Amino acid sequence: MNALPTTTMRSNGNGSTAASASAVTDAALDLSIIVPLLNEEESLVPLYDQLIAVLSRLGKTFEIIFVNDGSSDGSYTVLCRLADADPKVKVINLRRNFGQTAAMSAGFDHARGQIIIPMDADLQNDPIDIPLLLEKLAEGYDVASGWRKERKDKEVMRIYTSRLANWLIGRLTGVKLHDAGCSLKAYRAEILRGTRLYGEMHRFIPALANLMGARICEVPVTHHPREFGQSKYGFKRILKVLLDLITVKFLADFSTKPFYVFGGIGLTLFTLATLAGAETLWERYTYHTFVHNNPVIFIAVFLGTLGVNFIVMGLLAELIVRTYHESRGKPTYHIRDLKNF
Ligand code: UDP
Ligand code: MG
Repeated sequence: MNALPTTTMRSNGNGSTAASASAVTDAALDLSIIVPLLNEEESLVPLYDQLIAVLSRLGKTFEIIFVNDGSSDGSYTVLCRLADADPKVKVINLRRNFGQTAAMSAGFDHARGQIIIPMDADLQNDPIDIPLLLEKLAEGYDVASGWRKERKDKEVMRIYTSRLANWLIGRLTGVKLHDAGCSLKAYRAEILRGTRLYGEMHRFIPALANLMGARICEVPVTHHPREFGQSKYGFKRILKVLLDLITVKFLADFSTKPFYVFGGIGLTLFTLATLAGAETLWERYTYHTFVHNNPVIFIAVFLGTLGVNFIVMGLLAELIVRTYHESRGKPTYHIRDLKNF
């Protein structure tokens, strides 16, 4: 049962041999458009038409990869019809609903373009903006991120929570975007090859790409109200994004040296424990309060024990991280380009 996703990961994943092989043989096209979708049957044909209208004018080779994320409506039938009529349309049909981020990853893994552009299927993103994003990549950026400057979502609250979330994401990750959540972005394929996405993490790809040293810019894009179907998200997404942010922040700062975090906390607690211990001694000699009558000693013992725990946890985390990097042959650096090799 579990074999399927693992197999997909292995054949297209970023184990060093697979990645370099795919870099040579697979990047046979200029563009890959990735469209994850859940129950969007009415939007698919108009979206396909809009995409073809824009893409055929570019004079580039391209593919459109639709990822059906467990739709229960007629989406898959529509996609099959499109694919039968046009070989540039490719369809990945997931076994069940895995979520937008996972669906997007499936698309990334199967993409053969040198530039990869994910977008929503619900006609809220507009293909007309694709040339703008491409211009930015041509200028030398590795990631061009869409910014829905005038959002057309029904819920007003969403605009405020999103503004707050983007501010927080910017502060913590150092990648200051107005609209991390916009699906429409353009990436150089090699940037995505090294990233694995979990949970709701597609909005953090720029932050993860920044860790690799990617050059990132923002492009204002059009946003339309949703015409068909309904939004797949509610309040729960806020919590998920918040938790993902903590993961990304942790990975960003300490993925190669977790001991710096845990060890740092451990040492701080230890210092506090020593101070509390010294205080009990001081009281012993100035006020003759014996240690067994002084509750501060409990604080000292508590903090000291906690400190030791943090240090041990840090060392364990260090082992895990090393196993992770070494078993996957994942280097701790990223090269932009090489000369004369
Ligand atoms: N989507 C998906 N799987 C999911 C949820 C959403 O593939 O589990 C797709 C959805 O069909 C759409 C895109 O992700 O193409 C964005 O979703 P939605 O429009 O509901 O989000 P919103 O625009 O309301 O933030
Ligand atoms: Mg939408």
